Amino acid sequence: MQLQPDFDLTGRNTLGLRSRARFGVVIERPEDLAAAAEAARAKGLPLRILGGGSNTLASEQVEAVVGVMRIEGRQIVTLPDSGRAVTAGAGEDWDEIVAWTIAQGHGGLENLSLIPGTMGAAPVQNIGAYGLQLSDLLYSVTAWDGASGAFHTFGPEDCRFGYRKSRFKEAGNRHVITEVTLRLPQPWAPVLIYAGLDTLDASATPEEVRQRVIALRQSKLPDWQVLGNAGSFFHNPVVPPDHAARVPDAPQWPQADGTVKLSAGWLIERCGYKGATRGPAGVYEGHALILVNHGGATAADIDALSSEIRTAVEDCFGVSLVQEPIRL
Ligand SMILES: Cc1cc2nc3c(=O)[nH]c(=O)nc-3n(C[C@H](O)[C@H](O)[C@H](O)COP(=O)(O)OP(=O)(O)OC[C@H]3O[C@@H](n4cnc5c(N)ncnc54)[C@H](O)[C@@H]3O)c2cc1C
Repeated sequence: MQLQPDFDLTGRNTLGLRSRARFGVVIERPEDLAAAAEAARAKGLPLRILGGGSNTLASEQVEAVVGVMRIEGRQIVTLPDSGRAVTAGAGEDWDEIVAWTIAQGHGGLENLSLIPGTMGAAPVQNIGAYGLQLSDLLYSVTAWDGASGAFHTFGPEDCRFGYRKSRFKEAGNRHVITEVTLRLPQPWAPVLIYAGLDTLDASATPEEVRQRVIALRQSKLPDWQVLGNAGSFFHNPVVPPDHAARVPDAPQWPQADGTVKLSAGWLIERCGYKGATRGPAGVYEGHALILVNHGGATAADIDALSSEIRTAVEDCFGVSLVQEPIRL
């Protein structure tokens, strides 16, 4: 474990923002965390963890020691109740794990195919797509607690999962996830409730569902390696039903507690921002929920556009948008 000064993060965030950290360090083993935290303390800096940088808004100068999570390892395990699960190190690539579990003969993760990033970051924002959330499958999370220096294992009920949130997100940088175990449903049945998957037959295999999800995602989302982006830039806002009734044209999803989730992309598009550009920052022309870097943007460029959009949506619809990517 070696601290690297003036650590370049430009190629380590999917928005491709110009960014450098005071120091960087690669975390390859759980034991590296205590040493990295000690090194950060000695420099008077916080330790911040970075996975694939796909849900990160990286500042131009990051005043921290950035620990790049690279803990590897994966296996299919049998749970105490005889169920099957996949256990993987926090630095494993999420989509590689999805593909690997299917290749091992286990369905369950296929609706979450092609989401960029690492295994360890997946519980932080409770990743979700195509009718499935990580919390539907989570068996346990092992994390290092920066406050006590101890490792803890959390079950699903301890993780306080919600829509794109968890205790790990709430607590900022306190817990560093080192390993995640996800239950692989037995018997497996495809989850085909989402538009685009509902035309598949109930006899579809996990690989067929995966390929459909990949095709749908590739048709809607820009490839971050070609056009820098962080996926959905804002959460879909959840509002009381009387508020939702005032925007009857907006796509709406009633929630179990009586509130209504609105389409943030629709609200932004109605404010005229689809395809808008502000210097090197812009809104993707194919989907108003995605902010993009046309080349050379910094976090300040994205911040300015994001703030303009939030003000416009607040003025037009009285809705406060919450940003999804986390500031580094
Ligand atoms: C094109 C595109 C499409 C996307 N589609 C979706 C989607 O469909 N659904 C969805 O939910 N998300 C989506 N995302 C967002 C993103 O892929 C996920 O949030 C992903 O889980 C982030 O993983 P990461 O490793 O890149 O996290 P990073 O961006 O590196 O980190 C995100 C946050 O998690 C923290 N973190 C990272 N690793 C750890 C760890 N081991 N322990 C503790 N904290 C940690 C970081 O400190 C940071 O605060 C998309 C992003 C892109 C670019």
